Amino acid sequence: MAVDATLPYDPGNIFAKILRGEIPCNRVYEDEHALAFHDIAPQAPVHVLVIPKGQWVSWDDFSAGASEAEIAGFVRAVGTVARQLGLVEPGYRLLANVGASGGQEVPHLHVHLFGGKPLGRMIAG
Ligand code: 5GP
Repeated sequence: MAVDATLPYDPGNIFAKILRGEIPCNRVYEDEHALAFHDIAPQAPVHVLVIPKGQWVSWDDFSAGASEAEIAGFVRAVGTVARQLGLVEPGYRLLANVGASGGQEVPHLHVHLFGGKPLGRMIAG
């Protein structure tokens, strides 16, 4: 079910549990600010989620309230993951769903990183 991105952060969400090590993930990258892991239901040959380590519901509260260091660290982590996965030359797509109309299901900010094949144009459906 899509989340209301205006609600307060819920520390019981699945990505918070992954950050706390309570449930496993297939990790591809981690640093002070971010964790990246393979999506459990990939929608492209490469489908990785990059999440900040802070308690941010979505791009909305993150962009409004996170520190400069958190924002810089997260944005740099997304780029680092794409480079480490060899996606720059073939190209890739970033996607961040926000709230109900965005189709966000997990209320912890995450950027989807898709690649591994030509991805077509933008939005389907
Ligand atoms: P959203 O729709 O919120 O932008 O995307 C949430 C994503 O999280 C979905 O692509 C879904 O497959 C993924 N996901 C949900 N639960 C888990 C999980 O427990 N582990 C991993 N690795 N991915 C998950």
